[in-house]
Amino acid sequence: MRAVVTGGAGFLGSHLCERLLQAEHEVVCVDNFLTSSPENIEHLMGDRRFQFRHRDITEGLDEPGQVDTVFHMASPASPADYLRLPLETLRVGSAGTWHALDLAAAKGARFLLASTSESYGDPLVHPQPESYWGHVNPVGPRSVYDEAKRFGEALTTAYRRSRGVDAKIVRIFNTFGPRMRPDDGRAIPTFIRQALSGEPITVTGDGNQTRSLCYVDDVVEGLLRMLASDHGGPVNLGNPHEVSMLELAQWIGKLTRSRSEITLIPRPQDDPERRRPDISLARELLNWEPTTPVERGLCDTVTYFRRRLSVGECAGSG
Ligand code: NAD
Repeated sequence: MRAVVTGGAGFLGSHLCERLLQAEHEVVCVDNFLTSSPENIEHLMGDRRFQFRHRDITEGLDEPGQVDTVFHMASPASPADYLRLPLETLRVGSAGTWHALDLAAAKGARFLLASTSESYGDPLVHPQPESYWGHVNPVGPRSVYDEAKRFGEALTTAYRRSRGVDAKIVRIFNTFGPRMRPDDGRAIPTFIRQALSGEPITVTGDGNQTRSLCYVDDVVEGLLRMLASDHGGPVNLGNPHEVSMLELAQWIGKLTRSRSEITLIPRPQDDPERRRPDISLARELLNWEPTTPVERGLCDTVTYFRRRLSVGECAGSG
């Protein structure tokens, strides 16, 4: 298989490129480093099956030769990034998805859209099944991401129905692991960075809001299973086990053997109270569920951050 991965230099995209190469596929990674850096793919550059295109997917991609699959991963994903880059986020979710779908249509390739649990907004239903239409504020600060992804889902569905593209949608829930940026503003990198540098660990609100955290390797496995399946989706990929932000901060404090104190700070506007996937469909259609214990994933992530920030070993996952 020859796969195009838009956003392939990002956190999730770089793990996906790695997995595809391990399975002996050819990979064309398309990225403009809007929210990532070349470091994420530096180790892949020597592989002759790996090609890198420094492009903005919103300007289109005229890829020569055969393309069997297009994974559309390009988009700022952390709230800090999409709040800083509102128009770029809307553009890559709309024009970027359009061009990625056009490429798939022109090449007769399969297409997979990396959508998000944010399509559900601040949900009123828990856990969220794919049949839930969501609760989104179209003019709230997070709308640039939520609505861009919802538009991307509509577009993907339209290409499937009207152009016959074998197009698939997965809704990814909070994912973590090595190669997240220490400054990307998401809870896990922020807590780890703060814990390792001895700064206070800042938990928003009262810390009782929950997230479900899935390790990156499990999500990549889900993407590949979705691609290999006959289903168009949307299918949720995430860990149904909920963790409160306070619990997470305490966990990271322990794993890093940090003396940092936990400090409560105000919650951002429209920050969802709970987010938990119903993964019945992924279990049934893809025989998929997360298998990496969160604590083990956190330990690997701490080890990565220690190396990046140049500080000692993880306290262990035992
Ligand atoms: P990331 O920011 O690390 O990666 C996104 C990549 O897309 C970056 O390398 C960035 O430079 C690239 N990019 C952005 N705009 C581009 C453009 N116009 N042209 C070319 N490249 C562009 O984010 P991530 O966490 O790896 O997320 C990857 C995808 O998965 C995103 O589409 C995101 O919405 C989705 N997702 C991620 C999570 C998560 O928890 N990480 C959850 C739900 C959905």
